[in-house]
Amino acid sequence: MTTFNKSFTQQEPIPEDGIEQAIAVMRSGRLHRYNSLAGEPTETELLEREFADYLGSRYCLACASGGYALHIAMRTVGVQPGDKVLCNAFTLAPVPGAIHNAGALPVLVETTDDFTIDLDDLERKAASDEVHYLLLSHMRGHLADMDRLMDICERHHIMVIEDCAHTMGANWKGRKSGTFGRVACFSTQTYKHLNSGEGGFLTTNDDDVMARAIIYSGSYMLYERHLAAPPKEAFARIRFETPNYSGRMDNLRAAILRPQLASLDVQCRRWNDLYRVTAEGLSQVAGIRLPTRPAAESFVGSSIQFSLPQQSPAAIARFIARCEARGVPLKWFGDADPKGYTSRYDSWQYMGPMPDLPETQRVLATMCDMRLPLTFDEADCRLITRIIADVFEEVCGSSGHQ
Ligand SMILES: *Cc1c(COP(=O)(O)O)cnc(C)c1O
Repeated sequence: MTTFNKSFTQQEPIPEDGIEQAIAVMRSGRLHRYNSLAGEPTETELLEREFADYLGSRYCLACASGGYALHIAMRTVGVQPGDKVLCNAFTLAPVPGAIHNAGALPVLVETTDDFTIDLDDLERKAASDEVHYLLLSHMRGHLADMDRLMDICERHHIMVIEDCAHTMGANWKGRKSGTFGRVACFSTQTYKHLNSGEGGFLTTNDDDVMARAIIYSGSYMLYERHLAAPPKEAFARIRFETPNYSGRMDNLRAAILRPQLASLDVQCRRWNDLYRVTAEGLSQVAGIRLPTRPAAESFVGSSIQFSLPQQSPAAIARFIARCEARGVPLKWFGDADPKGYTSRYDSWQYMGPMPDLPETQRVLATMCDMRLPLTFDEADCRLITRIIADVFEEVCGSSGHQ
């Protein structure tokens, strides 16, 4: 019986030039913005400029984490304690965590069979007079129809904050994910498309949003030492009314990110090669459903999701256990007890009672999720799909019935 022996959690090493640059930062002792030399931009300032240029946005703030970026993004656009914020019911814990941190309340929106936010449900909920914000997660890299989504939000005067943790490098009809909303957030946490351990970005074209974000991040009035920042006047208005929630990225992490950013597009193509091989393999198995992905969507296949729509929870539990025994650990969002993830909205109990979301529950109940790290090659992905197909046959039968 074949098993797969590589780790799904092993990332590639940091590029050597990043390691060299990180050592140079340590040798200088100038790890953060406070003691940078006049006229010598820091690694963090350069990274912010480079990421803003990559995205085609005017401004960028490098942050301590993606969750931190989300939290201050909401505050920069004016979310007040008690405000309601629309958000995907299918997302990751930092998203409701950021809403909670801003003192706001989530209004969860249903999920489609293709794992995107349900635009019919969004339309219904956006029509309420009580909501003015959407924190949109492009969860697991699946882009909703962005034309229709933006149209709904414009008609209902909903401000969009994009969570691009899984869409760094993706686009919709050639327009980069992260350039649709008023402000966008990215993560450079280990499992995302750039790896600094923990870290993130906030991007925007809006002077006021960026000035506030910089003050929130703890600039100690050193806000002129930013390259991807609005003019001084933008700060004059808000610098005394914006508190400090320290959270800007330091130079060490920026040093290891800069060479990664330079090869981001190459990496995205490598992910998509792995995704294509894996999706081809899985699509051969009757009873396994892959999401339909619109032609307008250019995604980054750093993970893959599929569902087993005809299977009972007991059959899926056996399928997951058998895959795991053969070295293919899948995440199953339908498990009664969340293991190794927090993407089920009913595990965010600090938010108070959660509404019933039958569509999201139905979709998550049969959905499986698997990471595709770049330490795999195409042969690995073929072996993985063979194992999944074998196990499916063994547990669920070739016709896909229970
Ligand atoms: C990773 C992630 C974030 C940000 O997480 P951090 O660990 O705080 O950087 C936000 N949203 C989603 C959907 C994520 O997966």
